[in-house]
Amino acid sequence: MMNVPFLDLRAHHASRRGELADAINQVVDVAAFSGGPFVSCFEADFADFCETRHAVGVGSGTDALWLALMALGIGPGDEVITVPMTFIATVEAISRTGARPVFVDIEETTYTLDPAGLERVVTPRTKAILPVHLFGQVADMEPILKFARARGIAVVEDAAQAHGARYDGQRAGSLGSAGCFSFYPGKNLGAFGEAGAVVTQDAGLAERVRVLRDHGQMRKYVHATPGWNCRMDGIQAAVLRVKLRHLEHYNERRRKHAAHYARALAGMPHLVLPFCDPRRTHVHHIYAIRVPARSIFMQQLASLGIGCGIHYPVPVHLQEAYAGLGHRRGAFPVAERCAAEFVSLPMYPELTSDQIDAVAQAVETALLSSPAYA
Ligand SMILES: *Cc1c(COP(=O)(O)O)cnc(C)c1O
Repeated sequence: MMNVPFLDLRAHHASRRGELADAINQVVDVAAFSGGPFVSCFEADFADFCETRHAVGVGSGTDALWLALMALGIGPGDEVITVPMTFIATVEAISRTGARPVFVDIEETTYTLDPAGLERVVTPRTKAILPVHLFGQVADMEPILKFARARGIAVVEDAAQAHGARYDGQRAGSLGSAGCFSFYPGKNLGAFGEAGAVVTQDAGLAERVRVLRDHGQMRKYVHATPGWNCRMDGIQAAVLRVKLRHLEHYNERRRKHAAHYARALAGMPHLVLPFCDPRRTHVHHIYAIRVPARSIFMQQLASLGIGCGIHYPVPVHLQEAYAGLGHRRGAFPVAERCAAEFVSLPMYPELTSDQIDAVAQAVETALLSSPAYA
């Protein structure tokens, strides 16, 4: 039996220990721990990578989303449209500004915001649309941007799972008014702790995020507006700069692994495999399949030594935290069906071919031996 962990960050960093230690030592040498030159250098590199004019480093992906919305002037009385199938931070960022989160269901093929649902929920209070590039595939941005532009609504991309993904050749994060990234350790580009960034083509928006991330400070001890402490650490920036140089290669490996999974799992009964829209370059942050009778299936995989996860088992509209929005079961049927069926298989650049074959073999065994599939 071959054990395959869901994620292996030790393997991910093993070959670059020296390079990463050198980068951290440089920060210690000049003692630039909060903001400072390492953060500015990373911001320049990351803006280049995203093909945007500006990048602003912040404390987390959640900070990035919240500050981007704040910088757009969104607050109490406003509405922001997003999806219920996401990590809860997307929705928290909206409610934290005082605005109301409004949900649209996802497409059953790509698991991203279904543009056909926008018309039904838009109101004069709608100030932004916040599509999520779930699992590493960019949402269907052309109709979303068209809808928003026609009504003077901003579009903020939650690109926390989509570093380097493309839509019609354009980078995730570069299509809307702002793109928000997380560098949580397990993301496609991960720090050695918490970090995030907002990217944008808009100099004014970038400047407002810069001021807000540092207590609303324009110059030392001159505070124009209340902000918060959302600065990026120097050490995180130095680590991210090293890893950013290898991100394209990491994403290539993920795509290769996804193609291998697709070949190995093709034709197995009851499985729904990820769909990659040809207009969009997927970066496979998460490799999610769909299976009925999930709990039996997952127990079998675990007993065969395969680590897996669920992203996400409860859609946000059914979380107790958002019971106040008044949504019932059945309100967003695609998100609910997916939440019941998703299983995330191991996916990281360092997976080996043998490990992928072992996962596929275990999936087949679990399917064939489960009474649920008889
Ligand atoms: C990880 C993630 C976030 C939050 O990022 P943090 O850095 O953990 O704050 C937001 N949205 C999505 C879709 C994510 O996957």
